[in-house]
Amino acid sequence: MTVRIDYKLCNGCPKRAEGFCEEICPGDLFYRENEKAYLREPADCWDCFSCVKACPRSALSVELPFQISETRHRLTARVKKNHIVWRLLDRNGRTLATYNIPNRNGPLSSDTISFKNRKLKGSYE
Ligand code: SF4
Ligand code: SF4
Repeated sequence: MTVRIDYKLCNGCPKRAEGFCEEICPGDLFYRENEKAYLREPADCWDCFSCVKACPRSALSVELPFQISETRHRLTARVKKNHIVWRLLDRNGRTLATYNIPNRNGPLSSDTISFKNRKLKGSYE
């Protein structure tokens, strides 16, 4: 598993001394160059998802291990006030499923958790 950077979405967090991903990574793995973020040592990534949640442009995702997904599916996130919207992406960046999970500020009742799956061909139907 490691973090993937979508360079169409990353804008390098302009006007910030550090990008949100640089600021939060516990391994200090990010640097910026020419208004884009890069990983120094992808193999050192702990898959903690902190950067994925911190990026305001959903430019980061974590590739799932082959034991879970043989086809290089990835998870990305968008943090809202009371919940986090997790999106499962295929290798082409297409959204396969969306999961709304309350965060610690949000109500923890089961009706605040929702799952939405696209109708897909093959094993996902
Ligand atoms: S937080 Fe997101 S948009 Fe900002 S530099 Fe990092 S990857 Fe790019
Ligand atoms: S998942 Fe965690 S360790 Fe890996 S790059 Fe992101 S913040 Fe750093």
